[in-house]
Amino acid sequence: GRASPPLAALSQVLRLEQSRRTGIVFPLQKLERYLAPGTDTARFRLFQPGLAALQRAEALFRSDRGHRIDYVSSAVRMDHAPPPALPEVCFIGRSNVGKSSLIRALFSLAPEVEVRVSKTPGHTKKMNFFKVGKYFTLVDMPGYGYRAPQDFVEMVEAYLQERRNLKRTFLLVDGVVGLQKTDNIAVEMLEEFGIPYVMVLTKIDRASRGVLLKNVLEIQEFVKENTQGCFPQLFLVSSVEFSGVHLLRCFVAHVTGNLPTVEAS
Ligand code: GDP
Repeated sequence: GRASPPLAALSQVLRLEQSRRTGIVFPLQKLERYLAPGTDTARFRLFQPGLAALQRAEALFRSDRGHRIDYVSSAVRMDHAPPPALPEVCFIGRSNVGKSSLIRALFSLAPEVEVRVSKTPGHTKKMNFFKVGKYFTLVDMPGYGYRAPQDFVEMVEAYLQERRNLKRTFLLVDGVVGLQKTDNIAVEMLEEFGIPYVMVLTKIDRASRGVLLKNVLEIQEFVKENTQGCFPQLFLVSSVEFSGVHLLRCFVAHVTGNLPTVEAS
């Protein structure tokens, strides 16, 4: 198979010097030092696992003969979805937010996994199901756009309402441009159905520190004031530099019930 990219594995990250390592593993924490003194940073450290938990989570994302990670199937309707046998997480976001890149980064230690993309305009967008051994399933939901077609809204709505094994939804937001009006469609849907979700800021390598801080603080404020179901800590990721990817793997392992204990770092 293909070789995995440079910082895809924790063992590679651990070779970096301390400050770069923190930036890759805990990108949100890295921002803390640039905040005005007195800023409440409780929301920066709610989920802060230690190395042992990060390593156990990584093992789930690393395929081998006894632990297979596979693309399972695609579906346009709920009755075509695989049976809800395992705990599940799903990823949603605007088209171009970096969703396929992130899923590819999460699965980079299982290079045989094909993360398919159907971007051709006019092609039916599908939900893609991936199975991670006997532990959990991950669903790549179709991206929504400025004029989210009704069939997309119906597909996502039906999935969110009906999927009994759904443990957490990951809502991707572009870290460079911040929350957009179209993101509110997803937020409102999740809030209306009372579905627990997490916001993930993508492409953070592209945002200057100032822009990133502004977006983080704005979105945190939005989450605090306008949401019930959103986890108060944001997750920051770069699929290019692998920042935040290790932490996100750990959070996925945690919410799917695959990390019995998460001791703090
Ligand atoms: P999707 O439509 O949400 O699946 O988005 P893609 O994963 O295809 O990404 C859209 C564009 O953003 C592509 O050109 C990617 O190369 C780029 N991109 C995605 N993630 C990142 C990232 O973390 N950093 C940078 N610099 N570019 C990214």
